[in-house]
Amino acid sequence: MRELRLAVIGAGMAGILSAIKLKQAGLVDFTVYEKADRVGGTWRENTYPGLSCDVPSHLYSYSFALNPDWSHLYSPGEEIEAYFERVAVDHDVLSHIRFGDEVVSCTFSDGHWLLTTAAGVTDHVDVVIAATGVLHHPKYPDIAGLDSFDGALFHSARWDHDVTLDGARLGVIGTGSTAMQIVAATVDRVDTLTLFQRTAQWVMPAVNPAYSPEEQKAFRADRGLMENVRHSVAELFDHFSDGIVRADSPEMKMIETFCLDNLEKSVTDPVLRERLRPDYRAACKRLIVSTNFYDAIQKPNAVLVTDGIEAVEGAGVRTADGWLHPLDVLVLATGFQVDAFVRPVKVVGRHGADLDRVWADRPQAYLSISVPDFPNFFMLNGPNGPVGNFSLVEVAELQLGYILQLVDRLRSGAIREISATEKAMSELESARVEAAATTIWSTGCRSWYLDDRGIPAVWPWPFSQFRTEMAAPKWEDYEVLS
Ligand code: NAP
Repeated sequence: MRELRLAVIGAGMAGILSAIKLKQAGLVDFTVYEKADRVGGTWRENTYPGLSCDVPSHLYSYSFALNPDWSHLYSPGEEIEAYFERVAVDHDVLSHIRFGDEVVSCTFSDGHWLLTTAAGVTDHVDVVIAATGVLHHPKYPDIAGLDSFDGALFHSARWDHDVTLDGARLGVIGTGSTAMQIVAATVDRVDTLTLFQRTAQWVMPAVNPAYSPEEQKAFRADRGLMENVRHSVAELFDHFSDGIVRADSPEMKMIETFCLDNLEKSVTDPVLRERLRPDYRAACKRLIVSTNFYDAIQKPNAVLVTDGIEAVEGAGVRTADGWLHPLDVLVLATGFQVDAFVRPVKVVGRHGADLDRVWADRPQAYLSISVPDFPNFFMLNGPNGPVGNFSLVEVAELQLGYILQLVDRLRSGAIREISATEKAMSELESARVEAAATTIWSTGCRSWYLDDRGIPAVWPWPFSQFRTEMAAPKWEDYEVLS
């Protein structure tokens, strides 16, 4: 057995998971680098009103830390953040985390990675696990005059809680999952809510029952009950994933029917209904799951604006029809730069291979995890993985289980370096691109799933196939050095 030193970058959901699993595997010589001062990742950074997760909480939990106390089927964001903090404490991994220091570079040399942080700390490690998240760097829209707004303006992931919404004229740009949650949560507090919609969205209806104290007590007494909920939700998600990867599947038709019925039955004004009706197929963009968006947008103080935005001015937003929409607060719910992954960390692999250059066209990794010439460097929720209406917790757990098998070989001393071969990565990538063509994401819409070529940059096969792939590495797909 070889003693390994490891580094994990990021202490969000995937970083906490890594720390716990490394410790359980007896790999105790590791540091988790976290640039913020707390764990939590996306759940720490997003604090907007209405923040929630549209994956049921019993599935959006670690398999080894089921939580009997979830308040709702879809629990609110702050409860999710508290859950991750609590699990980190319960598993005693906080002492492994170096807070408030950002990894700025990882350089491979002589069989080791040299990590450097913004504070100038260096660390030589054998293995790097990048748990840096996907939806992390806010994307600011290219709209003229953003700086000239006299009111409060911020991105949804940088919510300014000093700004009062009560009685304010609130504008929200965007109609993604984030905007829909904000609209529903704020409409009753504000004077007017103006939603700037560039693209209408299909909305999957949902209910969000609270768990009663009796149910929570029963969960506490019998873990099997939580397993059952988890299992049945996972089954539903598997059906969903089977559907979306085959655009003409019966599951997809069912999803479309649900969304269409929801629009027809929930929106009473025929004019508003047409303005909310998308001109592309349901789930082509990431599906919105909402209990209350349609109710919110039909409130008397809600205004749906579908004319394009011309510019932001001091007093509000001017649209292409010449109208000025006066506002006090403007929220940019305009999404994230989704192709950054571990970047802006400068990652330099074997023979000076620079990840920025390797990914100059677009990010790519074998099974989202390993990049040729970047030995012993593994990613969680890396490029082209399963995203969108799945539990990324489950995805990360499966990926980490796989990564630990690679790490085990390093630990055994049988090999010193391991990374995917170019051949394995490019063959998988060709198959992935081919499969992506028949998914719902390729049926004609603009979405953050699409890469610069318009090809979905996601796992295009059923989720069950992902589970199978993650069960055990195909060693022939790896280049190893002993
Ligand atoms: P998003 O899905 O990328 O949506 C961004 C929105 O901003 C889109 O409606 C987009 O319009 C609009 N937009 C961007 N630039 C614009 C411009 N210049 N002018 C007008 N509109 C503009 O971002 P998001 O809502 O933050 O969600 C990102 C992802 O986070 C989700 O897809 C999901 O994976 C995750 N999320 C999950 C949950 C959950 O409950 N699990 C909740 C929130 C977020 P177009 O559609 O026309 O491009």
